[in-house]
Amino acid sequence: MSNVQTQQIDKLKSHFKGEIILPNDVAYDDARKIWNAMIDKRPSLIARCATTSDVVRGVDFARDNGILLAIRGGGHNIAGNAICDGGIVIDLSRMKASNVNSDTRRVTIEGGATLNDLDAATLAHGLATPLGINSTTGVAGLTLGGGFGWLSRKYGMTVDNLESAEVVTSAGEIVHASLTEHDDLFWALRGGGGNFGAVTRFEFRLHPVGPDVLSGLIVYPLSQAKSVLEQYRDFIAKAPNELSVWGVLRQAPPLPFLPPEIHGKGMVALAICYAGDPKQGELLIEPLRNFGTPAGEHVGVQPYVAWQQAFDPLLTPGARNYWKSHNLSSLADGLFDLVIEYVEKLPSPQCEIFFGAIGGATERPAPNFTAYAHRDAKFIMNVHSRWEDPADDKRCIDWARSFLNASAPFASSGVYVNFLTADESSRVRFAYGLNYDRLTQIKHKYDPDNLFRVNQNISPA
Ligand SMILES: Cc1cc2nc3c(=O)[nH]c(=O)nc-3n(C[C@H](O)[C@H](O)[C@H](O)COP(=O)(O)OP(=O)(O)OC[C@H]3O[C@@H](n4cnc5c(N)ncnc54)[C@H](O)[C@@H]3O)c2cc1C
Repeated sequence: MSNVQTQQIDKLKSHFKGEIILPNDVAYDDARKIWNAMIDKRPSLIARCATTSDVVRGVDFARDNGILLAIRGGGHNIAGNAICDGGIVIDLSRMKASNVNSDTRRVTIEGGATLNDLDAATLAHGLATPLGINSTTGVAGLTLGGGFGWLSRKYGMTVDNLESAEVVTSAGEIVHASLTEHDDLFWALRGGGGNFGAVTRFEFRLHPVGPDVLSGLIVYPLSQAKSVLEQYRDFIAKAPNELSVWGVLRQAPPLPFLPPEIHGKGMVALAICYAGDPKQGELLIEPLRNFGTPAGEHVGVQPYVAWQQAFDPLLTPGARNYWKSHNLSSLADGLFDLVIEYVEKLPSPQCEIFFGAIGGATERPAPNFTAYAHRDAKFIMNVHSRWEDPADDKRCIDWARSFLNASAPFASSGVYVNFLTADESSRVRFAYGLNYDRLTQIKHKYDPDNLFRVNQNISPA
């Protein structure tokens, strides 16, 4: 660290309850790894915090020494914003403590928790809040960008269930943000990303869920995909909000319930979760089995926490990933032909295109009610390029970019900020949409010098 003296690091260490990891430490290489193996950055110092006071010390250290500051929650962000070259990383991954109050249906959880930490704590009480679909994702990054998953059609975006947050600001102050305290900050945190401070604790509203839910996959060969997707479009338009069905197109993994002859061949999977009485759910999903001749299915009643982990084996850390995303307000004619054309030329066996169905409760708030603005989106369509060998980088990246451009005419306004890659600065304003100007004003109030800038950045007004 060129401009930071050893004695300043020693001073930081002296009151620090967590761990300070430096480039020569054995733990360093593991500590700088994040989910996306495309990201290979070398911070000067990793401050793995144990307490909110540690976070304050880390923020003060970055500000007072004029060095770059990144904040790591779950380390999943595709753009690699959990880490930086040459500055300090405030790593919250040790801070996961939670506290559920089943009477008031509230949970508080620290800023380094994963979705699995949160689900495990709340589902023990038969309660949950809407989160994403890969259990190793960080609660913090997901929430600060909006957050959607299987429960969103019924209970809204994750931010719609946020009650309050404890935040360390760029001045090193600990503030509590809610509808009644620092309400401007609270508004900005609900979709404005990590621009406004380090969130050390979240408080969410909970809802009765399961703990067992009807969920699983119905798989069709790619040859039937167009007809299946057209029927899916009509089906989901009329489905109750308790029911979420997402479409995933990729090569069939060697799952035990699929016949060997389809392994490695193109497929469309309908991924189902019914957040209500499983018997009612069974009746509702029956038509999904008659969209064609399924290659296999694996649907049943299982713990919601198990379903939340169902996709983890396909989304393990350590692969190279390049993703692109569009919001869709409808699945217009012509889109399915395009998707199938691109799935027929997948550049690696792990690549996929998916439609995540939202809508329902996510559409109810006005676009300016929270910083997350995209209340007209009924689907988030992602193209996930994923591979192992750096020699395949260009081929796999080109495929994703090409699909993004070809599918742009089908997209609606905005893009989900949490799926932007590092090279999409031109889409950042688009991601914050009509709320961008207000966000710049709140940024000016809480972070005038843009200390928190390793993110999809909002410039202070
Ligand atoms: C496999 C996979 C599946 C996904 N599925 C979904 C999904 O179903 N639904 C969905 O909504 N999204 C999903 N996402 C996107 C996910 O929401 C984002 O990647 C999100 O940024 C991850 O949060 P994190 O804390 O793990 O990330 P990190 O990389 O740690 O952080 C992301 C950003 O948030 C900031 N940040 C992190 N923690 C804090 C904090 N405590 N205080 C302030 N700022 C902080 C960071 O500085 C960074 O800018 C998925 C991503 C992946 C890779």
